[in-house]
Amino acid sequence: MTYHVNFQPLPPAEGDPAAHLRRRTPAVFRGLAADWPAVGSWAFPRIATLGPALPVRLVRGNRETTRTEFIHSDLGTYLHQLSEPPAANGEPLYLKEFDLLKAFPELRTELGELPFLSGGGVASRSAWIGPAGARTGLHQDLLDNCAVQITGTKRFLLARPGTVERAGALSAKYDAWARLSRVGIEELAVGGRAVADGHLFVVDLEPGDVLHVPARWWHEVVNLSAGILLSGFYGSRAHVARVWAQVQLREMLHRARLLGSEGCTCHPAR
Ligand SMILES: [Zn+2]
Repeated sequence: MTYHVNFQPLPPAEGDPAAHLRRRTPAVFRGLAADWPAVGSWAFPRIATLGPALPVRLVRGNRETTRTEFIHSDLGTYLHQLSEPPAANGEPLYLKEFDLLKAFPELRTELGELPFLSGGGVASRSAWIGPAGARTGLHQDLLDNCAVQITGTKRFLLARPGTVERAGALSAKYDAWARLSRVGIEELAVGGRAVADGHLFVVDLEPGDVLHVPARWWHEVVNLSAGILLSGFYGSRAHVARVWAQVQLREMLHRARLLGSEGCTCHPAR
């Protein structure tokens, strides 16, 4: 793996997944979902046939650290584009936080279980569908997250909680369920600002791999090839309810333009 020396490969987690989750550090479970029918069958042309005219909202580029811009399309057109070689010009268009399972409930039967996540309700389970180069800028989520790579390869770059804060790089940009960094993780790493050894990790997810990212761990994510990721927040019902209430309050302030008026990930930049 050619990467900046500061990034350590995240070692594969062996043994009881629940024990890894209790450690509150990221853990990659290689091939844990490899036998899910979805992993072998969710090719873009097949998903497209389920609802080609379905309207989709695509994110252009890296909305976490640059401007927020949306493009409206339909699922058939978008997935057809993904099946073709990437265009040389323009930033990647990314279908993010897409409620694939609500749109096509029949796909639920092609998923397996992750029983070690029990002990709470999964708060959400969405799909990230995009071409090579599609990227989510450096951020930390408010809830624990579990991601399952269905097709394609995705790189997660991770930094310990506190890394961005110590570098003075917290962004004022608003996001409902996350906090954002003003700079990318490589910029943090190269600058070396407050990034000690053992604080930065890299892991490439292949189809069937499962990654657990605890709340408050910073992460930046980039597609190495076109693919589909399913990702969900989870936690105990009491904890999810508490965070949800805080998020709703902040959302109310945001809609009233009392919070995040300088920029957000949910409304296009003016
Ligand atoms: Zn907004």
